[in-house]
Amino acid sequence: MKQLREKFRSFMIGRYGMDQLGQSMAWAVLLLLLLNVMIRGRLPSLLLEAFAFIGLITVYLRMFSKNISRRYQENQIFLRYRFYVTEYWKKMRFRLTEGRKYRIFKCPGCKQRVRIPRGHGRVSIHCPKCGTDFIRKSG
Ligand SMILES: [Zn+2]
Repeated sequence: MKQLREKFRSFMIGRYGMDQLGQSMAWAVLLLLLLNVMIRGRLPSLLLEAFAFIGLITVYLRMFSKNISRRYQENQIFLRYRFYVTEYWKKMRFRLTEGRKYRIFKCPGCKQRVRIPRGHGRVSIHCPKCGTDFIRKSG
């Protein structure tokens, strides 16, 4: 067992190994296989298996690749996209929670959007831009 480990270590010298992209792909493969258990039907199941297989092969090919700079670049691109996606989700979630806490009204004078906390009944709103006062229900 120790010998096998040593062999593996020397085999991995100069090879790329695991990174975030590889980990995410491994998770995706696992998810596909889980989905495959739940899905009935020959064709969708076959497609899922094919995707999982291709994914797994790619994970291993990247791990054992000796073109380290290329694999590193791939991972950087992946990290950049992942950053965009998580930032987008954060923004959407923020908007959703804000939407629950506040109501947005348009000032009848200048169309400026004014944010008012919910739950105060009828309130007089003072537009910060043009100074118009108007009454709305804050819900
Ligand atoms: Zn106004």
